Amino acid sequence: MKSLVQKISGLVLAGCAAFTTLAADNKDEKEPPVITPGQHEAPPSDAVVLFDGKDLSAWKSDKGDAPNWKIENGYAEVHGGSIMTKEEFGSLQLHIEWATPSEVKGEGQGRGNSGVYLQGRYEIQVLDSYNNKTYFNGQAASFYGHNAPLVNASRKPGEWQTYDIVFHPPKPFEGGTANGSITVFHNGVLVQDHITVNGNPPSATTKGPILLQDHGNPVRYRNIWVRKLD
Ligand code: MG
Repeated sequence: MKSLVQKISGLVLAGCAAFTTLAADNKDEKEPPVITPGQHEAPPSDAVVLFDGKDLSAWKSDKGDAPNWKIENGYAEVHGGSIMTKEEFGSLQLHIEWATPSEVKGEGQGRGNSGVYLQGRYEIQVLDSYNNKTYFNGQAASFYGHNAPLVNASRKPGEWQTYDIVFHPPKPFEGGTANGSITVFHNGVLVQDHITVNGNPPSATTKGPILLQDHGNPVRYRNIWVRKLD
């Protein structure tokens, strides 16, 4: 008859065996790279920094020339047209901080409107949605025109807010396009939970720029970085 110790060690061994088997099932997986995470939302070590508060050298205007945006005190303020990254990206994790004007002007879509466009075409809305009604799939953190956010996690006008976005673009292949997905955290709160991004042949592309919209309101941006996921 087995002792209690023998029974327990048998169970432990069985558990190890099960774990080993699972690990072996995933033998094609690579060891996750060790990186240094950023502190206080500073960029992690494997990020591409798109704006560090000093210059917009990673950006161009949507007409192709140098951006006209005002840079001061570590932020860039919308002025004279939308801007887009010079580099094009496929799947990505994007961190971006923004603030709508502290002086409240206008209402609905006319109050603190800008936007973060993935591949220059899929907009995550930037808007002052603090006590400001508009259509649900047009408020802050909406996937504009497609999907309202799960909650309204807006801070007050003038306060800095964050978006953390995970985006997988639709992927064209011969004979069709596979859908992509978009996930967004607004001020750390999940607001878009793996929402489908419909493939749109033939215009779907595997890579595209990140665009920040000039919608006529002086919205500010700072601390923008991206991690490439493919
Ligand atoms: Mg907009």
